[in-house]
Amino acid sequence: MNTKTQSNPRAQSPNPPQPMRGNAGASIIGPRNPAREAENRDVILSPSTDHGSLANMRWSFADSHMHLTSGGWGRQTTIRELPISPEIAGVNMRLKAGGVREMHWHQAAEWGFMLTGRARLTAVDQNGRTFQDDVGEGDIWYFAAGIPHSIQGTEGDGCEFLLVFDDGNFSEEETFLLSDWLAHTPKEVLAKNFGVPESAFAHIPEKDLWIFQADVPGPLANDRVAGAGPVPQTLSHRMMAQEPIRSSGGTVRITDSSVFPASKTIAAALVEVEPGGMREMHWHPNADEWQFYISGEARMTVFASQNNARTFNFQAGDVGTVPFAMGHYVENIGDTTLRFLEIFRSDYYADVSLSQWLAFTPHELVRAHLQIDEAVLDKIPARKTPVVKSIANGQ
Ligand code: MN
Ligand code: MN
Repeated sequence: MNTKTQSNPRAQSPNPPQPMRGNAGASIIGPRNPAREAENRDVILSPSTDHGSLANMRWSFADSHMHLTSGGWGRQTTIRELPISPEIAGVNMRLKAGGVREMHWHQAAEWGFMLTGRARLTAVDQNGRTFQDDVGEGDIWYFAAGIPHSIQGTEGDGCEFLLVFDDGNFSEEETFLLSDWLAHTPKEVLAKNFGVPESAFAHIPEKDLWIFQADVPGPLANDRVAGAGPVPQTLSHRMMAQEPIRSSGGTVRITDSSVFPASKTIAAALVEVEPGGMREMHWHPNADEWQFYISGEARMTVFASQNNARTFNFQAGDVGTVPFAMGHYVENIGDTTLRFLEIFRSDYYADVSLSQWLAFTPHELVRAHLQIDEAVLDKIPARKTPVVKSIANGQ
């Protein structure tokens, strides 16, 4: 099923590519950005099937503003960076060992995925029930809108993670911070509120902390606070402990509220595609797709009806998006395993497979559309596309 080198002119093109296909196009002779062009081979030399004026659906965190502090950094990809994505915003954050993303809450729900290293999470719900956990690579967490929480890098080199919010307008710079609120409340009110002398607040920060350096936390057991008991549903989940759906070209792990009940507004899939493989042609019947690329190289073509299709390239640290119901595939065009996250603002994961649709429709009808030989059509149920999944939620 490796069609990479058979039909794709990109495979034979120079690197960085030139916009030349047969007699069409010509070399670039003006100013060039060879590194950027090499990252965008299927944009410079787009498939001849691309057409129309679809909006941009790719952003790289490498193009996002970096907010640096003593304890680490953060950068974000929101509707301001990627206007086509109103449902989801993303934040990439690094915390040094002991670095704290300060105690805070926000109007959007937060879904986190640990990329590397370890962190300690804390949260308290509206009934005073508590959550503390240490998370590592491949672990996820979910804090519902309005629920206060914190994240702190632990021993070693701290951590780096991806945060996803169920609102494209979210801004990491506009969260409700503990230090910010106290700095903007009269000290006599603080004294009255907590029932302690005003002098107790003589040294609170005058300005918000956001991310700051603190001591590396000790063992998790020492940080256990009973409060009103534990939260009824855990707010963390070991995604890599899930047995993946395996197919010929890779694996998929799907985490939605059916296996991680706390995650009420975000469904996710971690997809691994081997070289030459492809996440098959499909679409999603419930939400926009927001992607984060962890490793490898990919190309994706988005089909938007009315003759519109546009192809994009992706690599580690890139964000992709597919508006609701638009058809797409994701192909591994590199030599290493492609790993990426598919994120949806939904409590359940769902997709519709093109091959399954054709296989389960009367073949006479399909043939009348596509003029494909029955012998070929018969093979479609075999699903030669390497990465597939069954339809979720009993459909
Ligand atoms: Mn948060
Ligand atoms: Mn998809």
